[in-house]
Amino acid sequence: MDFNKAAQQHAEMENFFSGGFAAKDPQIARKKIERDKRAEQAKNELEKLNQEVNSCRKCELGGQRTNDVPGEGHPAARIMFIGEAPGADEDAQGRPFVGRAGKLLDKIIAAMGLKREDVFIGNILKCRPPENRDPKAEEVFSCLPYLQRQIEIIQPDIIVALGAHAARTLLENTKSIGQLRGHIHEYYPGLGRPAIRLLATYHPAYLLRSYTHENRLRVWEDMKKVLAELDLPVPE
Ligand code: URA
Repeated sequence: MDFNKAAQQHAEMENFFSGGFAAKDPQIARKKIERDKRAEQAKNELEKLNQEVNSCRKCELGGQRTNDVPGEGHPAARIMFIGEAPGADEDAQGRPFVGRAGKLLDKIIAAMGLKREDVFIGNILKCRPPENRDPKAEEVFSCLPYLQRQIEIIQPDIIVALGAHAARTLLENTKSIGQLRGHIHEYYPGLGRPAIRLLATYHPAYLLRSYTHENRLRVWEDMKKVLAELDLPVPE
């Protein structure tokens, strides 16, 4: 198949049906076709991985949870939002970020001009630590390979680490969120694989606790950086 021609046709069709608002750049359209093609296989791979998570008892949390929370979203998403661990609402529903912090994350995603289904939302830990305590090192050690495989399958263009735990774990350092946030870092998925851009920002639960104009502005500035990295427009 002539890929450029197909991409051009795709761009023209999108443009026609969207009344001129779709990407006119064939390069962007080509990438979209590639992602759509990959999404079906990625969906199957993620489902298999979810079954593994569901039967996982590598740490004590596996026996204590109500539901595992593997994560959800577009199987070939350009953006992955990664939090720390499920809380009580997530444990009850088996879905990530569905409590108060999740509602705020939904608003942030909407402000970016995106929908929850456009992105992938997950966590470092797939099971809730009791009383929402911090993850233990051995729990992170047991659980991290699941997230690493999700990243491998989804192949995001950028990872947004929500809060210090996610950022430090993925960047393998101990810096504060104040030092890490607002910058584009590199996440290394493993030998021979290209680095993936990672932006760290405040966790929505922190934002709820410190709901100042300044903090909200900082998160919005961070999200604008994410959009700029992906060549996506900033909604008015
Ligand atoms: N906080 C997290 O870090 N993850 C969730 O899924 C919910 C709240």
